[in-house]
Amino acid sequence: MEWQVAAHGRLQAHVQGEVCEPGTQSYEAARAIWNAMIDRHPALIVRCRTTEDVVECVHFAREFDHLLGIRGGGHNIAGNALCDGGLVIDLSQMRTVQVDPEHRRAVVEGGATLGDLDAATQAHGLAVPLGINSTTGVAGLTLGGGFGWLSRKYGMTVDNLKAAEVVTAAGEVLQVDTEHHPDLFWALRGGGGNFGIVTRFTFGLHPVGPEVLSGLMVFPAAEAVSVLRRYRRFAGQAPEELAVWAVLRLAPPLPFLPASVHGKPVIVLAICYAGDPREGYRLIEPLRGFGTLLGEHVGVQPYTAWQQAFDPLLTPGARNYWKSHNFEVLEDALFEELADALDQLPSTECELFVGALGGAAGQPESTATAYPHRDARFVMNVHGRWREAADDARCIRWARQVFRNTAPFASGGAYVNFIPADESDAVERAYRVNYARLARVKRRYDPDNLFRVNQNIRPAAA
Ligand SMILES: Cc1cc2nc3c(=O)[nH]c(=O)nc-3n(C[C@H](O)[C@H](O)[C@H](O)COP(=O)(O)OP(=O)(O)OC[C@H]3O[C@@H](n4cnc5c(N)ncnc54)[C@H](O)[C@@H]3O)c2cc1C
Repeated sequence: MEWQVAAHGRLQAHVQGEVCEPGTQSYEAARAIWNAMIDRHPALIVRCRTTEDVVECVHFAREFDHLLGIRGGGHNIAGNALCDGGLVIDLSQMRTVQVDPEHRRAVVEGGATLGDLDAATQAHGLAVPLGINSTTGVAGLTLGGGFGWLSRKYGMTVDNLKAAEVVTAAGEVLQVDTEHHPDLFWALRGGGGNFGIVTRFTFGLHPVGPEVLSGLMVFPAAEAVSVLRRYRRFAGQAPEELAVWAVLRLAPPLPFLPASVHGKPVIVLAICYAGDPREGYRLIEPLRGFGTLLGEHVGVQPYTAWQQAFDPLLTPGARNYWKSHNFEVLEDALFEELADALDQLPSTECELFVGALGGAAGQPESTATAYPHRDARFVMNVHGRWREAADDARCIRWARQVFRNTAPFASGGAYVNFIPADESDAVERAYRVNYARLARVKRRYDPDNLFRVNQNIRPAAA
């Protein structure tokens, strides 16, 4: 406790941001993250305002040998934004986005959310491929790879990263890109928070919207297997502009669904077409014939609205546990497993989704960036979600069982951004062919493993 008081005073004297200590409202706000299963108590949380603040915190953590957590958007399922004891650098006050429409570039501070970035870029009809929930942090999503509705057309988020400003474990501020510290720049594009604290990301932008054809079509659970079979054939031929994901869950009380369907198990096709809507309407027409259409809500809407469409189902504060697989092909037996899992949902909020990748996301070589899963044509996430701690065991058991049952059909590997807290042995699976090179870059930039509150890549032996 004594060190905490001394540390608080010293840090506060050197940073512009607020140093939050236990027992204060700002501390409680800063330690609340998306997944309510995570309940960690850092010794101090510094809400940094500038890159210099971040440098100061790094020097401080090193000097006193404190565990160091980095909080971007706080959405990591494993809770890696926070540590127990030690110091947390909270970037949530650093959310500025500057767009240069002429050169199609955006410079984004390390605590910005997807919503911040989309709002700024869409003011110019531009976008970076990001994820599907607007409150997610740009930092964590990008550093792990990042995919969403635009990835088939414009690649993973990391494929659009042009440069970064990084505070290293030594407290240096480096500007990195393909010509400056290329090894570090390579490692950042998928290697998570292992290599430094990114205070600024520079992204290349693409023309998108600002309105896109998007929405949902809903079919009964009894037809899940046949809908998925048709979906497989359709997805195999879809152009890169078109992303269709399958979601299996209980129907939310959406106004376009009859009341009799609310709360019933359904399979939903979520659709986004990032091209001329007239062509999009033509392309998605066959989806309506995939089964008994219980309802649909598809139309031309602002891209920013579609990027927030799932936010109400993904609010912070619930208990969450995830398991995920990548697939190169979708096998019939997998569909049977998914239908069974839908039959056995252990809570009203649990769901499974199958997201479509491929296209531009699959173009680079596996070794081109630290993110290696270029063979993944589909990503499945088993999303366990519930409210009460008493349901933890039941819901986690369901997610693990679905994961085990579907493993024989998966292509191997793990998406680092979907790894839960109890699966730290998945790190080598997450990096596959790139692990050894990442460990060497780690040795160069963080030999003492200062940045270890993450899916940790250990420095290679000298
Ligand atoms: C509701 C929801 C929807 C999602 N949808 C998608 C999706 O569509 N596509 C997708 O690809 N992923 C998705 N994800 C996963 C998401 O990419 C990860 O949860 C990611 O870790 C979130 O980043 P964050 O900054 O919010 O998290 P945080 O918990 O703040 O950080 C995650 C990790 O990154 C480190 N970190 C954070 N900021 C920095 C920084 N500036 N510099 C260095 N290291 C840093 C942290 O220490 C931690 O290890 C989703 C997650 C949620 C909860």
